[in-house]
Parts: sequence; C-alpha cells; structure tokens
Amino acid sequence: MNDLTYVQQRFINYTEKIMQSNKLSHSYLIELGDYSLEFPLVLLFVKMILCPKYINVATNLNCHYCNNCRLIDQNVFPDLQIIEAEGNQIKKGQLLSLKDEYQNKSLIGQRRVYIIKNAEKLNPSSANTILKFLEEPEEGIIAILLTNNRYQVLDTILSRCQILSILDDSDLGDIDENIITFMKYLVHPEDLFVYYKKIFDSTLSDKEVAKKMFFLVEKVLVNYLSIKSKEKENDYLSFLDSIDSNVLLSYITIIEEEIPKLVYNINYKLWLNCIYSRFVEVR
Ligand SMILES: [Zn+2]
Repeated sequence: MNDLTYVQQRFINYTEKIMQSNKLSHSYLIELGDYSLEFPLVLLFVKMILCPKYINVATNLNCHYCNNCRLIDQNVFPDLQIIEAEGNQIKKGQLLSLKDEYQNKSLIGQRRVYIIKNAEKLNPSSANTILKFLEEPEEGIIAILLTNNRYQVLDTILSRCQILSILDDSDLGDIDENIITFMKYLVHPEDLFVYYKKIFDSTLSDKEVAKKMFFLVEKVLVNYLSIKSKEKENDYLSFLDSIDSNVLLSYITIIEEEIPKLVYNINYKLWLNCIYSRFVEVR
C-alpha cells in the first residue's frame, strides 16, 4: 500500500491514535471515495482491532502471519462479518442473521466487528434493526458503516456513530458559504470573542448542528492541508494561508477530540464553552 494520499495517511494515523489511547468507540461511520482503493484501509483498521499481535500500525501493516489477519485477508474470519447491499437495498433479514450470528460469545477473541458497506442503502426498516444494535451495543462488538456520502445516510444512524473520513475531495469549490463564514471566525478567535455569543447561538443551535458544522470544518481544513501539501493554490480558502499549518492541525485535533463527546449525555452549553476556549488557546 504505497503512495498514500494525505487524507489516507491521516486516516491511518487517526485510527492508530484511537487504538493507542484505548478510545475505541462501538460504532463508526467511515466516509470514503473509492471502495476498491480505500476498503483496504478500512481493513487495516479492522486488523488493528482484531489482531492479537497488534502493537502499532507500522508492524500491523505487515502482519500477514497471524492467524486472524490471514483469515481477515481471505475474508473468512468468523468475527468479521461484512454486509453488502443485495440489489439496491440492505435488507432487514441480512441484519437479523448478523444479530443471530453474533448472539453467542466469540470462540476466538474479545472483539468482533461487522462492516456494513453502502450504509446509505439501509432502508427505514433495516435501519430500525441496526439502530437497536447501535443503541444497545454489546461489549466487544464494533460496528463500521461505510458510505460515499454521509448526507445520504439516515440521520438516526448518523447521530449514533463517530464519523471518520477518507474522502479526499480536493475540489472544494462548492463549500457552503456558512461554513466559510464560521471558519473565518474560528481561525480568528479574537473576532470570535466579539461575536462569540451571536455566532455560537445562531450557528450552533444544537448538538446535531454543531456536529455537522465541525465535521465540515474539519474536512475543509484537512483538504486545505492536502491541497497545500501538493503545493496547489486554493483561492476560496486563501484566508487560511496566513495561519501556520501546525495551528490548523491543532484545530483539527480539537475537533477530533471534542466531537465524539457529543454522543454522550453532556451539557451542550458547557461543551460549547470548552471547545471555544480550546480554539482561543491555540492562537
Ligand atoms: Zn495479525
């Protein structure tokens, strides 16, 4: 797996960080571009989760010798189930048999993973089945949902997953003007301080809005850095040019650390205050 793009490398680093800090969540939605190119990266993450020899990604990349990894590569590992759409839909029956399959304790390890490809093809009835799964996760069972476009995935599912992205859309031409305005405030928190209440109250009215907004901000920042690493210009985001890349990376880290906290039953106002002060500290 040579020549990883900036966004792909970031995905690997981030999943590695999840494993090393022992912060594995029970459900992920991974947004990716091309399945044939990026599914191997998802499998790498799965191997980190299921490989008993996993220490870090550098060794895991080459783990073809352990039994688990070999079976994962051959797509016959019993504690990894992969669900794909039958025709245009993921059917309720497919999820019920997954449930059946995972009802008894694993004979191999402590963790089991299921992957649902094309999560946007979950219809309301199959989504309901999976929701119960996501709401009352069983110890050691990790869900990984994949999609090309998170906006086509039902909101009820989206809100229960931590979102990761391997989507490299270098074409940032059609970003919402609201995001840009919001980002201009974020990267210049001294302005934000003046408008703080106004911006946060009007823009980030609730948890779900905040999640969407910050996810997009993160994505724009990542793609901006990706474009910059290719030494290309992006007029639309030129307001970021004056800011050091390390500062932008800190913003990304803050978003990555704070967004997952929104899935818990937290006090949203306190959370807003916290993420705001972290942004201010970076400058
Ligand atoms: Zn292994």
